[in-house]
Amino acid sequence: MTPVPDSPVLVSVEHLRHEYRSTAGANVAVEDVSFDVRAGSVVSIVGPSGAGKTTVLRSIGGLLRPSGGRVVFEGAEVSGPPPDAAFVFQDYSRSLLPWMSAVSNVMLPLRAKGMSRTDARERAEQALHAVGLSGRGKVHPRQLSGGMQQRVAIARAVAYQPALLLMDEPFASVDAQTRMDLEDLVLPLRDEFDVTIIFVTHDIDEAVYLSDQVVVLSAPPSRVSTIVPVDLPAPRTQTETKADPQFAHLRNEILAMVRRAPTTD
Ligand code: ADP
Ligand code: MG
Repeated sequence: MTPVPDSPVLVSVEHLRHEYRSTAGANVAVEDVSFDVRAGSVVSIVGPSGAGKTTVLRSIGGLLRPSGGRVVFEGAEVSGPPPDAAFVFQDYSRSLLPWMSAVSNVMLPLRAKGMSRTDARERAEQALHAVGLSGRGKVHPRQLSGGMQQRVAIARAVAYQPALLLMDEPFASVDAQTRMDLEDLVLPLRDEFDVTIIFVTHDIDEAVYLSDQVVVLSAPPSRVSTIVPVDLPAPRTQTETKADPQFAHLRNEILAMVRRAPTTD
């Protein structure tokens, strides 16, 4: 269940730096960020708003070219979106095609990859089952609640069987109860689809609950304040894990660090 602590490094973020340039000048969002992600683990990135969490995630996924440093994924430097990585964004309403059924949405990237219709449908049904949407494939996104739409977006990402799943505040737009239900999909999906997950959130409880490791970013221009290993036992549950004194200890330690928002100099 829990990944082997010494599994190989799948993603290596090495002295990543990013500055946004505009007519107003250069804005250094990320100063110097380095961390490693081991295969099969869940690593969260937390930090104050504007800390560069999205910038780091988009750089890992090849959607942004770093101004300095590099990201190595599966042994190669990232220079564009790697075919073996999938994204889940916060805004599910814009990530699904509204005129297509749920199952067609999930099949789309599989068909684009050249998979036969029969195989793509089978894979899509399996992914919809894994996110708790068995038998709901024919419905259109607008007929589904926000939480259900995000389940479809997650199914589409895992159906593709990426080695790496990049999630940017995926549960920030749903109500608290739905959020817990969605959180409880993450670790079983990691196990079923054998995927490594990098998870951006500003919610520290969520980060501790889901992660093997939490990377805490400073205020911008960001650096890594600390990397906190989370060795809470599996399986994790909303009631037992969050009542564990070690959970409280870890979330308090990280919360104090984020609120201080230190830089390393
Ligand atoms: P987070 O996800 O932690 O809230 P972001 O990575 O979105 O942080 O942003 C980090 C910093 O970079 C912020 O100061 C933000 O204003 C700035 N920034 C983000 N996107 C752009 C952009 N496209 N152009 C200019 N500045 C940006
Ligand atoms: Mg963000």
